[in-house]
Amino acid sequence: MTASIVKTICPFCGVGCGICLKVDEQQNLIGVEPQISHPISRGKLCDKGWSTAYAIHPVNRITQPLKRIKGRFQPISWDEALASIGDSLKAILDETGPEAVGVISSARATNEDNYAAQKFARAVLKTNNIDHCARICHSPTVAGLKQTLGSGAMTNSASDIYKTDLIVVIGADPTENHSILGGHIIDAQQKGAQLIVIDPRVTRLAKVADIHVQLKPGSNIALINAMLHTIIAQQWHNQSFIDERCDGFESLASKVEHATPESVESVTGVSADLVRKVARAYSQANSAMIMYGMGITQFVSGTQNVIALADLALVCGQVGRPGTGINPLRGQNNVQGACDMGCLPNVYPGYQDASAPEVQSKFAKSWGEEVAGKPGLTSLGMTKATLSGDFRGLVLFGEDPVVTDPDQNHVKAALKALDLLVVAELTMTETAKLADFVLPAASFAEKAGTFTNCERRVQRISQVLTPPGTAKSDWQWLKALAEQLGSQLLSWETSEQVFDEMATLTPAYQGMTYTGLDRHQGLQWPCNQGAPQGTEILHCDSFPIGKAKLLPVHCIDIDEPADEQFPLVLTTNRLHFHYGCGSMTRKSPLLERETPAGVLFINPHDAKALQLQRYSPIGVRSRRGYLETRAIITDDVPPGLVSMPYHFKEAPSNQLTNTAQDPITKMPELKACAVSVFPLPPN
Ligand code: SF4
Repeated sequence: MTASIVKTICPFCGVGCGICLKVDEQQNLIGVEPQISHPISRGKLCDKGWSTAYAIHPVNRITQPLKRIKGRFQPISWDEALASIGDSLKAILDETGPEAVGVISSARATNEDNYAAQKFARAVLKTNNIDHCARICHSPTVAGLKQTLGSGAMTNSASDIYKTDLIVVIGADPTENHSILGGHIIDAQQKGAQLIVIDPRVTRLAKVADIHVQLKPGSNIALINAMLHTIIAQQWHNQSFIDERCDGFESLASKVEHATPESVESVTGVSADLVRKVARAYSQANSAMIMYGMGITQFVSGTQNVIALADLALVCGQVGRPGTGINPLRGQNNVQGACDMGCLPNVYPGYQDASAPEVQSKFAKSWGEEVAGKPGLTSLGMTKATLSGDFRGLVLFGEDPVVTDPDQNHVKAALKALDLLVVAELTMTETAKLADFVLPAASFAEKAGTFTNCERRVQRISQVLTPPGTAKSDWQWLKALAEQLGSQLLSWETSEQVFDEMATLTPAYQGMTYTGLDRHQGLQWPCNQGAPQGTEILHCDSFPIGKAKLLPVHCIDIDEPADEQFPLVLTTNRLHFHYGCGSMTRKSPLLERETPAGVLFINPHDAKALQLQRYSPIGVRSRRGYLETRAIITDDVPPGLVSMPYHFKEAPSNQLTNTAQDPITKMPELKACAVSVFPLPPN
């Protein structure tokens, strides 16, 4: 029997490792292996990557459209589904107008699917109500880095981990969530780089770090301002870099003038000596890179936290050189791409301002159709508008907000209140269960396209398998739905045609073609006339906004601190063996075996006070909801803090989480809310 081996890209996290899928003559997927010479994964895969085959296994896949009739899903043809969905959309558009409909696209889908989704929203439905899960992971990154540096993406490349003297990881554990990068970090440390981890939890990376700064949850700005105070007071800042490349130093220096490390000890829980030690190490390293995750972004202070990190890097001149930079670790395989494609209510592809008349007319002219004018709603804004009766029809693919968004009861109530909910998915997720129509989607292995990883590398994925049943790529069913609504605007025949159209309209992608991507093992944006081979490091000579902006920020408390009624702070986390809502990883018996479904991590001190034993059944209550789970007692969380992964529908941590939002990006504060924990009788 001859097997064919096809190179493609791992469908899980934003690292974008190279995998090979092995397929037999009958089109069965018979194996997964790493791409030996891939520029990032270098012949390795993490446990999730090795388990890719389970994620797309035909068992339990949705293979034809389903319609809810009298509370039960009935199979129907694509023609029937598209006609009914089209009629419902037309009715809502006629009765209530385009503000009452919207699209939620997917950070798991390709750039081509996402480009099609925002074009469908803006030019067919005529609304800017388009969003995706970056809202709840890195929207503050886009906003914060855009304001300070002019570009909301990782400034450097994964390979810079091996070119740096010092790595600061703050609010992230790449060994859990970006495991191949986590491995590179440990490898670089063993080769001589210093590693500083800043995190309230004793993460796996914190256990091997040279320095672990165990700050209190939500005190990032207090800590960073105290570091800035120390650096400026000790003259450790890089004056020539500031003079040449930054604006706003005086006002930043004046803001942090009184933020001494001693003055914030009680806020951060970090000793003044340790703050000075870390400030010195970071500012005095020849090259130092910051990597961060959702322990920075998922706060009401999310955008301000990102700005504070940018201030720190800029003041020390740790930007625009190898081994430096500010490097957000994007969670999902294509969350960078979904943002780049303009699946956000305020920007078109390439972060072109959706409210700017010149941008609207550029796209209207190119597409040959008038586009939406009014600003759009975020995903959480659509939820809110549904509950107030102003939003009626949602088309959603590749996301499961019932499991991933804060305050699950609120999300479910909104989805049930819609007049029309269309969900395209691989399997029946918790959100799909509430839909009026469920459409069968092709998995990453069943379609061609591109993903953009966290280091801005656009990589080709290949169609290896035939989609099961009548499943389609998302851009294909969006095209068919557009036709149903009388529009020929999405009339591409191949994913390459979608990509080529997108590239002509997206300045950072303008120099990319499928052939070029294949030739170079992916290209990092910006890739255009000025940088035909792509760009490994951003901001080497200039910033897109001229000079970088140093912006003073002040501390913002978490919205819901612990109190008498809810005496513990809950933070959410992710586990190495699972991914997102679990719909892909939980199909793997290997991954499922590793972690019990839904647990709460609690410090021995708190466990003793509550008389809990290992795996004791417990109830957890917040102001929004209640769930039952089991306790794991560990020093990895400090007293007063408990932590829960959000992958498990059996104990969904988002029953409990807070919807309080960052005012700039509407990012909910998923990293901190007050809860009470109590023992339940053994069962
Ligand atoms: Fe896949 Fe991420 Fe693991 Fe790489 S690190 S194999 S991209 S899940």
